[in-house]
Amino acid sequence: MTDTAGKSAVLKTNDNAGESFVPSDEVMSLWKNVHKSMRDEFGEAVFRSWLKPLTLQAYYHGTLEVSVPTRFMKDWIQKNYADRILEMCVDADESIKRFEIVVVQTAILSEETEDELEQQKANQNSKDADPYNLSAPFDPRFKFENFVVGKPNALAHAAARRVVESANVPFNPLFIYGGVGLGKTHLMHAIGWEMQNQNPDLNIMYLSAEKFMYQFVKSLRAKDTMAFKDTFRSVDVLMMDDIQFISGKESTQEEFFHTFNALVDQNKQIIISADKAPSDLLGIDERLRSRLAWGLVADIHPSTYDLRLGILQSKRDQLDADVPNAVLEFLALKVTSNIRELEGALNRIVAHADVSKQEINLETTQEVLQDLLRSHDRRITIDEIQRKTAEHYNIKMPDMHSARRARNVARPRQVAMYLAKQLTSRSLPEIGRKFGGRDHTTVMHAVRKIEELMDQDAQIAQDVEIIRRALTG
Ligand code: ADP
Ligand code: MG
Repeated sequence: MTDTAGKSAVLKTNDNAGESFVPSDEVMSLWKNVHKSMRDEFGEAVFRSWLKPLTLQAYYHGTLEVSVPTRFMKDWIQKNYADRILEMCVDADESIKRFEIVVVQTAILSEETEDELEQQKANQNSKDADPYNLSAPFDPRFKFENFVVGKPNALAHAAARRVVESANVPFNPLFIYGGVGLGKTHLMHAIGWEMQNQNPDLNIMYLSAEKFMYQFVKSLRAKDTMAFKDTFRSVDVLMMDDIQFISGKESTQEEFFHTFNALVDQNKQIIISADKAPSDLLGIDERLRSRLAWGLVADIHPSTYDLRLGILQSKRDQLDADVPNAVLEFLALKVTSNIRELEGALNRIVAHADVSKQEINLETTQEVLQDLLRSHDRRITIDEIQRKTAEHYNIKMPDMHSARRARNVARPRQVAMYLAKQLTSRSLPEIGRKFGGRDHTTVMHAVRKIEELMDQDAQIAQDVEIIRRALTG
């Protein structure tokens, strides 16, 4: 132990705390600093995905013990970051000898709160201007091999692959759009990983439109727009996520438009994501909108049951967890809002099983996900289902109750019965009564029929998904 290296070694096990080894204030503040510097060292995306949840649990005889909510996270951090984290701890205090990760279930990893976003902005603000550090790092979970392909995302996936595999720029820009949590960011990171892998010298810039705007405004204030422009015009690949963010922000759009044109002129690949098609991006200047649609526009549709199930299976394999198929099927049926939430639900039951040592089955799943499932089940009435379904198929509401058997009304009626069974807790006879006093066997037949059709006919599957989203969204 020496002071000459600028290190100190003063931490003591908190003996007063008895068996629990509650960390002392010094240890807590040391950990806080190390935890903070991880953000700088590993970058925002990695920090947010993996390191942020690390929570100090104990300190005893040179061992710093921190917790994470799932075993999967523990393994990943152990494998990829633990050595470096230990070094950082030792740098801060030499008496730390070991770094231990334990699994402690906490609340599910939440989306960022407004406060945290504010905090991040403040952090970025206080950093020195570093025009070459604008690009966010790629998230290790977001690679092609972890992306499950199904009908809803096949086009976007193929386009992303094409961009990576082409020797030149196949289309410019690639514009990917779709609702929240459907895999846009995942695909962009996958492109980034793969391109970087193929050519480590490639200068790939990935950032959110929000960050672009933020940096642009900052450069205006600092009267440093030349450096800002240079940074963007010297990239080989530009990926901008969530471009809808700059709706209504005219000067930012203007700047982006020039950047965009400069890069296209140099034949540099541009990839953009948004929540809507270019033509629907109100608040974005007409010139820019039409420019965005020049290349390939690929949409990601709402997920289907099959895709959700496929993603859950792949995720189960990654987690190496013992989750019965019936539970995955149940989740794929019930958690339809978006894939982020679906993954969250699976993580939660796995984490719960880990801690409680209970096996995972339908019963424990329903228990653990009570709040989530309730919010999905909420207040959807058969009446609403009939109305939305009639609207979707452009038929009249009374046809939901009528005895007419023409295909163009009978099929929508069956879809509505199917949804009534899935989305409400009503029994088959109750549902039958709501559909003009039909028998419960008719309802059962409708449910089976639609299930079968959803497997064979993508159009039906998509119709059902759209109506379901309109009802649950
Ligand atoms: P978006 O950017 O469209 O809002 P994300 O790309 O952030 O959505 O995806 C949300 C979550 O869902 C991520 O954890 C992502 O890995 C996962 N995800 C989305 N689509 C797929 C897919 N096809 N296969 C595997 N995981 C997916
Ligand atoms: Mg995204």
